Amino acid sequence: MLGKNVFMVCYCVLSLCLSAVAEAPRVLCTTFPIYHATRNVVEGRKGVDVGLLLPANLGCPHDYSLTPADMQQIQKADVLVINGLGMEEFVGRPLQRANPKIKVVDSSKGIPGLIEQEGHHHHHHDEADGHDDEEEDDHDADRHHFNPHLFASPKTLALVVMNIADGLSGVDPEGAEIYKANAAKYSESLVALSGEVKKLKDTLANPRIITQHGAFDYFARDAGLEIVATIQSHPGQEPSAAEMLKLVGVVREKKPGAVFTEPQYPARIAETLSRETGIKVAKLDPVASGPESAPKDYYIKTMRENIEMLKKTLGTK
Ligand SMILES: [Zn+2]
Repeated sequence: MLGKNVFMVCYCVLSLCLSAVAEAPRVLCTTFPIYHATRNVVEGRKGVDVGLLLPANLGCPHDYSLTPADMQQIQKADVLVINGLGMEEFVGRPLQRANPKIKVVDSSKGIPGLIEQEGHHHHHHDEADGHDDEEEDDHDADRHHFNPHLFASPKTLALVVMNIADGLSGVDPEGAEIYKANAAKYSESLVALSGEVKKLKDTLANPRIITQHGAFDYFARDAGLEIVATIQSHPGQEPSAAEMLKLVGVVREKKPGAVFTEPQYPARIAETLSRETGIKVAKLDPVASGPESAPKDYYIKTMRENIEMLKKTLGTK
């Protein structure tokens, strides 16, 4: 009798272990930069499937709404890795409805030194949909005051990567060793790259720039760049005639070295500003978007190109 019970217990423990091994989590990431970081973290972990919810070329989803196809992807996932800091205002109540069991890994969790969002209006969109805003007020409203573009600075991305590894290790302890080793290695490369960014402080002849939207605030802090104006005060929204006049005034007064456009937005306004004032136009890529099948070093290569572009455009001392 005793023997049989012991056997039953062993059998149950064994089958639990087997099911944990067999079912590596289905991981879904919201945005391209988080997806790219997560793919680096899970490399070599058998059976883990990493999907990307939003189109890779979309860029920041500041004004995104979930589609029925998105909902289906969410229903099939075990884990959702998010950017956090209000980047995913489209998740929340619909997410819980579609998949109440999904585990959310907030890759911005606990990261220190967050930059206050400039010109932040507390409820800047979906005003007609007041109840969702109120729900956010309950948990996370404070965090929405901060700039969410941690991914565009190698220094803060290194912390994001460690958070992703921690989160996935919690959901899939069997893979923890791999996740943590990959994250440590990738963060180390990002910290080294951050050293190259930091050197720009003593190198650039004119550190004043205009950016297209708030994506480069963390990068600028690391590189000693001064962002004297931003074309889109609200992401995705073009400046009004009055804002355009103000931009022209800022260019004449502060003499920034260039206006930098981003691949995720049209360059038209920057070109108009350039025609009006003679300011240089060049492109920087915050890696908010990219090819879905990007190689593992895509981020690092793109950031190095940004560093070279800054030197070439702004001049060196
Ligand atoms: Zn953005």
